[in-house]
Amino acid sequence: MARKFHFYIVPTPIGNIQDITFRAVEILKEADFIACEDTRVTQKLLNHYDIKTKCVSYHKYNERERVDFFLNELKSGKTIALVSDAGTPMICDPGAVMVEELIKNGFSVNALPGACAVTTFLSQIPRYGEEFTFIGFIPRGEKQIQETAKKYAAHNFVFYESPERILKTLKSIQEVRGDVKIALGRELSKLFEEVIYDNISNVIEHFKDGIKGEIVCMIYAEDNSELADLDFKIKELKDKGFKAKEIAVILSTLFNLNKNDVYKKVVEM
Ligand code: SAM
Repeated sequence: MARKFHFYIVPTPIGNIQDITFRAVEILKEADFIACEDTRVTQKLLNHYDIKTKCVSYHKYNERERVDFFLNELKSGKTIALVSDAGTPMICDPGAVMVEELIKNGFSVNALPGACAVTTFLSQIPRYGEEFTFIGFIPRGEKQIQETAKKYAAHNFVFYESPERILKTLKSIQEVRGDVKIALGRELSKLFEEVIYDNISNVIEHFKDGIKGEIVCMIYAEDNSELADLDFKIKELKDKGFKAKEIAVILSTLFNLNKNDVYKKVVEM
C-alpha cells in the first residue's frame, strides 16, 4: 500500500467489535506501532483481528511528554496509528496535542472515518434541520448544568454523560427548561442498546430505577423560544433606529447567536 501519510487517526468500535473498517484494520496491521489510551483495551481488539503491531500508551496524562518521541519516530520514517479506547480519537478523547505538534512540524495528519457515539446517535433520532451543538461531556454541578441548558435553549444540544449522573443532570435541566423534548441513546451498537425520544419527564420516569451503560443525550431546541420571533425583534429594533451592527450585537448576546448570522439577517430584511 502506498503510504502518503505517516500519522493515522483510526476510529475503533464503540461497542460492536465488527464496527471497524477494512482500511482501519489494514492500517493497524501495517503501522510500526499503535498509540493507544489503555493498552489492555486495545489489545482485545488487536487479538480479535490478529493484529500483531506493538502498542505504546498515549493518554491524557502523558500526551505532552510523548510528543518528542512520536516526532522522532515519524522523522525516522515510522508510521504511527492513533486509537482511543473506543470510537473516534479526539472526540472527547486524547489526540489534540499531538495533532497540533504534527501540523507545526510539517507532518500530514490522516484521519479515517469511523465509529463515533455522537454521529451514531444523531443518525437515528428525529431531527428537524441539520443544526446541533455538541458540547462533549456536560459540565458537572447543578449550577453549571443549568447555565449550560439555558445557554443552549435555542439549540439542539448534544452531550455525553455518565450513567451515575444522568438522572440528576436531567432533573437539573428540567428545572430550568421545563418538560422539553429530549432524545437519549444508551449502549449504542451493544446488546442492551436503547434509544428513547420523549419529554424529559417521561424519560426520567422511564429510568427512575437507574440507568446503566454509556450515554449520549440531546435536548431539543425550544420550539417557541424567543428565537422563533427573531424577525419580529429585528424589526422592532430597526424601527427604534438601531443600526444593523448594534442589532447584531444585542440579539447575538441575548440569545447566544452567531453575531455575523444575525447581522446578515438584519441587512437582508
Ligand atoms: N471517542 C468516543 C466517540 O467517538 O464517541 C467518545 C469517548 S468519551 C471518553 C466516552 C463517552 O462517549 C461515554 O461516556 C459516553 O457518553 C459516550 N459513548 C461512547 N460509546 C457509547 C455508546 N456505545 N453508546 C452511547 N454513548 C457512548
